[in-house]
Amino acid sequence: MQKSVIKESLKKKSIIALAVYLAVFIAIFGTITYWVVESPVRAKLEQNLDIRSEFLAAEISAPLHSSLGVLKSIVAMGETISDRQSLDKALCQVFKLNDGIAVSGGIWPEPYSVDPDVKLSSLFYNRTSTGEVDKIDLWNNPQTAGYHIEPWYTSVKDTPSNTISWSEVYVDPYTHVQMITASAPYYIEGVFAGVATVDLSLENLIGFVKSKAREHDLGVIVRDANQQVITEHNFRVERGIYISQLSFGDFNWSLEVVNARRLVADEVADIVKSVELGIVPVMLLCLMFGYYLINQYLIKPIAIIAKEVDESRHGGSIDINYRSPDEIRYLIDSFNQKTVYLDQERMKAQASTKAKTAFLATLSHEIRTPMNGVLGTAQILLKTDLSVEQRKHLKTLYDSGDHMMSLLNEILDYSKIEQGHIELDSHPFPLNSIIGSIHSVYHTLCNEKGLKFSVYSDIEDERWYQGDKARLRQILFNLLNNAVKFTSQGNIEVFLSEKIGAEKNTLTIRVKDTGIGIAPEAQARIFKPFEQAESSTTRRFGGTGLGLAIVKEIALVMGGDIKLTSQEGIGSEFEVTVRLASCKPKPLDVHIERNLDYRGLKALIVEDNRTNTIIIETFMKRKGFITYSVVNGEEALKAVATQNYDLILMDNHMPVMDGVEAIAGIRNMPGKEKDTLIFGCTADVFKETRERMMGAGADFIVGKPIDERILDDALYQFANKLFQFSGRKGSNVTSLGVSK
Ligand code: ADP
Repeated sequence: MQKSVIKESLKKKSIIALAVYLAVFIAIFGTITYWVVESPVRAKLEQNLDIRSEFLAAEISAPLHSSLGVLKSIVAMGETISDRQSLDKALCQVFKLNDGIAVSGGIWPEPYSVDPDVKLSSLFYNRTSTGEVDKIDLWNNPQTAGYHIEPWYTSVKDTPSNTISWSEVYVDPYTHVQMITASAPYYIEGVFAGVATVDLSLENLIGFVKSKAREHDLGVIVRDANQQVITEHNFRVERGIYISQLSFGDFNWSLEVVNARRLVADEVADIVKSVELGIVPVMLLCLMFGYYLINQYLIKPIAIIAKEVDESRHGGSIDINYRSPDEIRYLIDSFNQKTVYLDQERMKAQASTKAKTAFLATLSHEIRTPMNGVLGTAQILLKTDLSVEQRKHLKTLYDSGDHMMSLLNEILDYSKIEQGHIELDSHPFPLNSIIGSIHSVYHTLCNEKGLKFSVYSDIEDERWYQGDKARLRQILFNLLNNAVKFTSQGNIEVFLSEKIGAEKNTLTIRVKDTGIGIAPEAQARIFKPFEQAESSTTRRFGGTGLGLAIVKEIALVMGGDIKLTSQEGIGSEFEVTVRLASCKPKPLDVHIERNLDYRGLKALIVEDNRTNTIIIETFMKRKGFITYSVVNGEEALKAVATQNYDLILMDNHMPVMDGVEAIAGIRNMPGKEKDTLIFGCTADVFKETRERMMGAGADFIVGKPIDERILDDALYQFANKLFQFSGRKGSNVTSLGVSK
């Protein structure tokens, strides 16, 4: 199963979740605060502005109203002082003493009322900027239409006493100052006698308004009764701005005031912001504490569990210091229970695999030993005088036995691979030696079937590889066996190519045939053990369904793979890649004649199976040996103690005492007999058996059935030991210990 990787950490996720939570919280909190705070704050700010405008209005009205006192005293003078000179003096005095905004004014009697010959006889005074009071006679010019037609005069003529009329704001043509005139009638003995006026300079008033507006950051506009602007300062109206409006005074002026620098809305936002700034750090602290708790009690234990689980991927329970009896504890306990259960199951499975291996070892011995007997006997019989009929039957017997032996070998081979016991040999070999052997074997085979066989290679002739030649050969032989088996006409081709790599080269082997092909649905299946493309295959072509499974396993172990392209009825192409290191060519071994003279040498055969004993005896006698035989290890020890043997052929599985024990016993003997040449002789394919025998002191292991060439090679190699007791050397031995 593929190992999954932790791509997103819980820690990161929880931080993101908390950040989102914080953002949402601040947004909601801000909105609520705004709703709650906004309206009272706004009302308060508007009220403040109203108060300021009222205050301003009052301040503006004050000098205007105080000027009315001046007007009233002028009226009183007009009504009470009949002497013209005294009146003149009194009026002059009024303006001299007054330093307010009333800058001019006077008495405007009805035409001809003072002197029947004089139409206009006003007493009008003006205080200059230096404080002097001038009497202005301009209005008394008889050439003019007269002051009695002026609006400030007519507006109060014959009106009840105490009436006051205010003129519009106007610009004085002499001083260019904004002015306003208040006029009032006066009566002498109940008869309308004329009009008293006072002119007020607005210059100071405007200055005052502006300074107040500046002081309080206000925008101000003052309008007269006719909505004419008297003065304006910083009055800018923006959308949503609050305007405080007020009408004031007898003269019906109006005042509009705004907050000049900041809108009320800005002020509200500021207050909300400061409230939030006070609360957000507290919130952040709470959140951090909350995160600490979540991290401590949830995320951290889960992260530790994930790490421990990862580390205990190949077994073992997880041990975390987590005491709280909650779901996490439950998770840890359940995992551990499961691990214990799985460990037990694994041990059971391992035990059963071991049992299987042991069973296969026994099976190999039990089946291969009698099979060896069958094949050996058949071989011996084939060398005797037989009738044609007998020879034919015996040949069939031998072929069937041989086939059974190869099936058995294949099963054992696969079970070895399955258990991971496949160990690659690493020896230098020329690729050409494999090409040569497939050529010689399959050329003949194909010829017999009427098939064309060709091998194409892109690889240089001198290519040598360092690796397992036998396994590479096995791959090719398995694929070619199938190709020949499943092709009845056409041709079989082998293509060899290689890609040079830094450390190893990739060798590609393609075996192509024009055979029956493989159905698409069977193509993946046939690489599994005991699987064949069709159920009828065994019946029609024989086989175990193990060949391709073995090829695939070997290819995988050799760092490659296998691919198949096939079309039913057209043919198949298997492509196998393997990775092999190339190496320098080695000089080929010189063939040395190995016909030593074995005549008169004594060979002790230790074997419990009678048939095998006969086969080996016949075999050895034919070579010139004098043979002796015993049926177990114990008897072998006794025999070796009584006389010297030149060679001992020792079987492994035997009753009473097995081969390993017997070899060890001989090697521990006191005399020269302990150096006797001993060849382990076993049908066991397992490396362990061979290693155990070699470990006990065997000089060499020959497989069963005995391959004469291998035996000759071994005897040649150990010639000095072989001839140690006979005191002679075998003929034709040129040099001892030459490797085969
Ligand atoms: P076996 O040949 O012993 O049955 P293999 O594992 O070698 O086992 O092959 C499995 C099956 O794949 C064969 O039984 C056969 O059905 C199919 N097969 C293999 N090679 C070929 C081929 N060259 N042409 C057609 N079918 C093939």
